[in-house]
Amino acid sequence: MVLQNGESNGSFYGQNGVSIEDDPIGDAHVGTSLNTPLRADAFSLPDEEKMKRIEGHFRSIMDILGLDLRDDSLRGTPKRVAKMFVQEIFSGLNPMNKPAVSLFENKFGYRQMLVEKQIRVQSFCEHHFLPIYGKAHVAYIPKGQVIGLSKLNRIVDFFARRPQVQERLTMQIADELSRVLQTEDVAVYVEAYHMCVQARGVEHQESMTITAEYRGAFLTDSVKNEFLQAIKP
Ligand SMILES: [Zn+2]
Repeated sequence: MVLQNGESNGSFYGQNGVSIEDDPIGDAHVGTSLNTPLRADAFSLPDEEKMKRIEGHFRSIMDILGLDLRDDSLRGTPKRVAKMFVQEIFSGLNPMNKPAVSLFENKFGYRQMLVEKQIRVQSFCEHHFLPIYGKAHVAYIPKGQVIGLSKLNRIVDFFARRPQVQERLTMQIADELSRVLQTEDVAVYVEAYHMCVQARGVEHQESMTITAEYRGAFLTDSVKNEFLQAIKP
């Protein structure tokens, strides 16, 4: 491992102080295209401390904008925002909050596609911290085990509750489904509006972004088409 100027910054290194060059695949905390770029020390601060610090910083932002924080309506905002960031909209950053998944033996011998559609997606664009909202549709073809249906919704929700890009969200859901269900035969389709497209920049209200990931049997046209038919509104 060769240290160069500036590389001592923690963000260049993974959990074990191994550089990206030394360990190209081994560390989940190094920002790859699939993993949310998190520092190795992302969870060393307790949530209470994170909220206290965010509250202070958000108060400064409001203050710089010239808002009078003595006003009744604004006084509680920094605290509300801090709590919302840590406990709600970005709670999916913390692996501790990943839904525990219960699998059941596939006693029925069900071997066909299972589709869970119209799963609510509420996420936040990591480039602008503005909402991404829409629907996810997921499917899998069971092997030995089946999953409790609401767990599919919870998996989508967990990965949505992060600063995200829709492409990564789609892949992270597919990966997790594949991992917990122990099958490559998974499909994920996400259709969502991005407030950063609607409310700023080009300000296009109607543009919707669609992303999809097909694996295993879903790469076959007939299976993919069955899925696409099933998720039609
Ligand atoms: Zn954006």
